[in-house]
Amino acid sequence: MSDAGKDDARTGGCQCGGVRYELTGEAAELYACHCLECRKLTASAFSMSLQVRIADFRITGGEPKFWTRPSDKGNTIKCGFCPTCGSRIWHETLGEKEWMTLKPGSLDEPVNYADAIHIWTRRKLPGFEIPEGAEQYPGEPD
Ligand SMILES: [Zn+2]
Ligand SMILES: [Zn+2]
Repeated sequence: MSDAGKDDARTGGCQCGGVRYELTGEAAELYACHCLECRKLTASAFSMSLQVRIADFRITGGEPKFWTRPSDKGNTIKCGFCPTCGSRIWHETLGEKEWMTLKPGSLDEPVNYADAIHIWTRRKLPGFEIPEGAEQYPGEPD
């Protein structure tokens, strides 16, 4: 790749630091997903996903492991995680060549939660308040 991306490279990694990565380029949308799968994966209220280009993402340390699961749309989602601490780091849809979703809580520099588009809000935990003015969808946006 060219040197152009190096200045704006962002770094991140799992909870134990065993898996590290570098991200260049501009990310697309940031989502906060309240679906049941995302609650299970985080064991928490929701999961955040940052759309980034596969070509912009590079593992710089450690060896992630993978597991796959079917998506609602009939695709197969490949999930990358740290084999030591278990942190989920990214998802790819098998066959998709351009975009993947990074779990942005793993970035060293925080993303701005106020930018998140909330999806599957009809599944959100009781009592969870979507920030006022946030773009939101009861299910998956088209
Ligand atoms: Zn780890
Ligand atoms: Zn979800």
